[in-house]
Amino acid sequence: MSESALRERMCDLGLSIFERGLTAGSSGNLSARLRDGGLLLTPTGSCLGELDPARLSRLDAAGKHVSGDPPSKEAFLHRGLYGARPQAGAVVHLHSTHAVAVSCLRGLDAADCIPPLTPYFVMKVGRLPLVPYLRPGDPALGEAVGALAAGHTAVLLANHGPVVSGPDLESACYAAEELEETARLFLLLRGHDFRPLDAAQLAALRAAFQLDP
Ligand code: ZN
Repeated sequence: MSESALRERMCDLGLSIFERGLTAGSSGNLSARLRDGGLLLTPTGSCLGELDPARLSRLDAAGKHVSGDPPSKEAFLHRGLYGARPQAGAVVHLHSTHAVAVSCLRGLDAADCIPPLTPYFVMKVGRLPLVPYLRPGDPALGEAVGALAAGHTAVLLANHGPVVSGPDLESACYAAEELEETARLFLLLRGHDFRPLDAAQLAALRAAFQLDP
């Protein structure tokens, strides 16, 4: 995809995410890796519903801002993930309600915050580790994301929200939506005697779709 087509696509997907209430106000940010190793990123303080293709932030391969509006203050979350996960072509970070609600629960399994309720969650998101709470803007947050990203498509920031990757922007957005819907299911099922997929079912999925082990 050309850079201009990618810019248009990022704005279209941002609007779709915003209109469906998957992130509110000026929260949430999207990024995609460019062929030269740089990043295209939504600008700081921007609303995903009102992105302008010409004003998206462009960073070079070293993370320096080279054109467009200044990048999201959460750019380091994205860079932490790309640095650890070469197969990631795009990253989506949302403050989507149900995923954030799960991130605020006590007693989560920090290695896997949401049980494997459906095969679609396993295929698009997989095991979801928890990144301990750090204040927004703390560079340690990017390092903590990077430390987990090599073996995980997505991570959940405690009391904050999900950071989700994919091979391209569509895939990352779809995975973020699958995560949000599965977080909703998980909250609906709390207190019920639910049955997640078992170890043999998970192993079969991971083998069939070449998923993270
Ligand atoms: Zn955030």
